[in-house]
Amino acid sequence: MAERIVEYEVHDWRFKRLASMNARVVELWKGAAWAEGPVYFRDGDFLLFSDIPNDRILRFVPDLSGLGGTVSVFRQPAGYTNGHTRDREGRLVSCSHGHRRIERTEYDGTITTLADRWNGKRLNSPNDVVVKSDGTIWFTDPAYGIDTDLEGWKAPMEYGGCWVFRFDPRDGRLEPVIQDMRRPNGLAFSPDERFLYVADTGVSHDPAGPRHIRRFAVDDEGRLSGGEVFLTCDVGVFDGFRVDTEGRLWTSAGDGVHCYDPSGALLGKILLPQRAANLCFGGKKRNRLFICATTALYAVWTHVNGAQVP
Ligand code: MG
Repeated sequence: MAERIVEYEVHDWRFKRLASMNARVVELWKGAAWAEGPVYFRDGDFLLFSDIPNDRILRFVPDLSGLGGTVSVFRQPAGYTNGHTRDREGRLVSCSHGHRRIERTEYDGTITTLADRWNGKRLNSPNDVVVKSDGTIWFTDPAYGIDTDLEGWKAPMEYGGCWVFRFDPRDGRLEPVIQDMRRPNGLAFSPDERFLYVADTGVSHDPAGPRHIRRFAVDDEGRLSGGEVFLTCDVGVFDGFRVDTEGRLWTSAGDGVHCYDPSGALLGKILLPQRAANLCFGGKKRNRLFICATTALYAVWTHVNGAQVP
C-alpha cells in the first residue's frame, strides 16, 4: 500500500532538524473525492477525516509497520462534514456543510447541534474549527458548501457575509469575531493562545483576492486585535493548517505542506503530488503529520510535536 514519494524543499537549514530527512512521505491510502479535515484520536490511535463530495467520514487505523493501515467508513451520510477537532473532553467537534452547523458527537454517538444560526439567519457552511483552552469553539464560515451541490446543498447565503465565529458551549452564545474576510478557511491558535491565525482563500472567487494567513492578537478576554497579513501563499492557497509546540506553522498549499517559523520565515516544504487541503499531527507523540491531499491521505514522521489539543 505504501508508496514513497520525492518530498522535501529546504529553504532554511533549520528545516532539516524539523522534518526528518530520513523519513519518507508515504501514501497511506487513496480513494477520496476530496479529502479534508483530519483529526487524530491518540487514545484510540486512529485518524478521522472527511471525504466531502462522497458525504462520508473515514477512519484510518495504522498497521504495525506504520507504513500503511486500513480505512473504513466511520459515518455516511455524514452531512457533508469538513473540518474536525476535539473539545477539551475529547469529543469530536465537526463542521457540517450540509447541515450548515457546528456539531458535536457525544460519547454515545448521538450528534448535538452546537450552532447553526446567527441572529436567526442560517450559517453558510462552517469549514474549519478549533477549540481554545477555555472550551470556546472558534470556526470559519465561508460559503463553499452552499456555492454548489458538490460539497453540500446549493443555497443562498443568509446573513450576508463569510465570518469567523466564537461559540461558547457554556452559555450557548455565538458571536462573530472577524467580519472582514472574503473566504475564511483554516485557523489555529499559537501554543500560548496569544495569537489566532486565520487563512483567507478568497482568491477562489476573485483572481485578485486573498491567498494568505492573517495573524490576530488575542487578549485575556478572547478579544482580537491586529489582523495583519502574516503569510502569503506562493503556490495555490493555504487551506487548513496546524501549529507545533514551538509555534511554527505547518500549512497546506498547492504543492504540499509549507513550514514557517513564528516570525513568518519559510523554513521548508514537503512536496506532494497532489494539492494539500488540510493536515494534523498524530501518532501517540503527535510527531507524525497526516495530510489530506485531494484523493489521498499521506503521512510523514517529523522531529516536532503538534501543539494541537488534546
Ligand atoms: Mg478548509
